[in-house]
Amino acid sequence: MEYLTVLTIPDPRLKMKGERVETIDAGILDLLEAMVKTMYHDEGCGLSATQVGIAKRLVVIDMGDESTPEPLKMINPEIIWRSPQTERYQEACLSVPGVSAEVERHVEVKVRYTDIHNKTQEVHGKGYFAECLQHELDHLDGILYIDHLSPMKRQLLINKVIKSKRLSGTR
Ligand SMILES: [Zn+2]
Repeated sequence: MEYLTVLTIPDPRLKMKGERVETIDAGILDLLEAMVKTMYHDEGCGLSATQVGIAKRLVVIDMGDESTPEPLKMINPEIIWRSPQTERYQEACLSVPGVSAEVERHVEVKVRYTDIHNKTQEVHGKGYFAECLQHELDHLDGILYIDHLSPMKRQLLINKVIKSKRLSGTR
């Protein structure tokens, strides 16, 4: 299986909203599998379908610790509870390569999703796992972590990414 190409800013497809998945067919299962492989290959802890140019509500996450003993494959995930407490987390994103910044996130969230066996599941994330869940689910609504920053800080990071892409000659 080929790796999927992760889109990087300023690709407009990163602003797409994912549509709900109504039927979990072989195509969806293959896509989730390819997303997991791509996530490991690109050394990310999460990946959304919108990042590979597919407007569907699919997310995979592997924190590499006990919070995800196996890679999470989430279909139509939604946040159903957020802790009132927030904290600032250092974030990076495969679609915004080479830079990172602090973003304020809820310290805990609960996410409901459908698994690959068409069963409803819930996961309770804390700390960086909660941060990752919020970051990945944002992608499904076309929101990048840099969209949570001040316009000036956001532009600074965008310029950095575009400049380094130009230097390395990629896209
Ligand atoms: Zn991301």
